[in-house]
Amino acid sequence: MLSAHFNHLQERIYHLMITLSKWLKAQSKKRLLIWLGVVVVSLALLQVVVANLRLRVSLHQRQQDKQAAREAADVAYQALLEQQTQEQAERAQLRQQAPLERPQLVGIQNLYVFFVRPPDTSDAQIMPLIKQLQQFSSTRYDSLFAMHTFFAEQARNYRAKPFTLVLHLAPTIEELAVNRVGDVMEFWDRDVYAVQKLQDQFATILAKHKIVLGEGKSALFIYFDDSFLGDETADSFYDQKAFRSFSDEGQRQAYVNAYDFSVAFASTLVEIAAHETLHLFGAKDKYLENEYGCEATGRGNPDQQPTFPQKTGDIMCGLIEQREGEFHRAEFQQGELVINRHTAAEIGWIPLSE
Ligand SMILES: [Zn+2]
Repeated sequence: MLSAHFNHLQERIYHLMITLSKWLKAQSKKRLLIWLGVVVVSLALLQVVVANLRLRVSLHQRQQDKQAAREAADVAYQALLEQQTQEQAERAQLRQQAPLERPQLVGIQNLYVFFVRPPDTSDAQIMPLIKQLQQFSSTRYDSLFAMHTFFAEQARNYRAKPFTLVLHLAPTIEELAVNRVGDVMEFWDRDVYAVQKLQDQFATILAKHKIVLGEGKSALFIYFDDSFLGDETADSFYDQKAFRSFSDEGQRQAYVNAYDFSVAFASTLVEIAAHETLHLFGAKDKYLENEYGCEATGRGNPDQQPTFPQKTGDIMCGLIEQREGEFHRAEFQQGELVINRHTAAEIGWIPLSE
């Protein structure tokens, strides 16, 4: 059966070839060329159509892949956000349950200081300023060690419990690329995710140095980032900064932004570091949220009679109220910043009144 079928097929192919060769012989050379041309053009057209079809299919596929990736990222972000919001809430609850664990500036307090820079800043750019900050004996308030001097000076005004702030300055400079979006803006408790993510990034430095924060152990990160967002619509200088100083008492971690790399900036940097460090021990901000000025609790001497002119300002505000409602910047190096009785009470030096 199969053999018969095969023979039949062979016969048909043979007949087809005979017919084709007869037809070819019958054609003139010119017509043959035309036919050849038609065949070539048809093949080329076919190729174009197939390629186009393939392109469409792959474009569609790519779009679908992109969409899927975007959706997956959204889902992951939402999950992370939920997880971190929950963790934050749990921590807040823990803090409320154990109010006695609120760290205060009493006893021995270790502060681990890290110098951190983004990848696009070189060690050489920030080294002179770091050298100044590391100087053990310095003139007034332009070394990180001056923080302790300042705190000790201020403590003398109260019958403060004894304390020692032990600074551990990291010998090396760390590199950390802090992602701009989310990490650095809106972190004043408004964007839990941003704070959390920022902390996760800095936590890698603590892990590398095998430092576990806890009772008597806090960290201060000095982040050398002088970039500005250049946002013309921003209200203030601070709104334009890419990275802003802040402190998380619960996590025992403070972040200070060195936005100027000049050596002359050292004393301002130490002032900011002292302010953020005091947050770690319970001190609250005393500046006004939406305008240039301090709350009444931010006056250098809240009990002065008559109240004005004030000659100093509390470091948790940083301004002097010369006349009621009129403020100007207090100079750290001129001794115009103090720790007033409100801040002293918050950090555990004297009993909380009222
Ligand atoms: Zn503050």
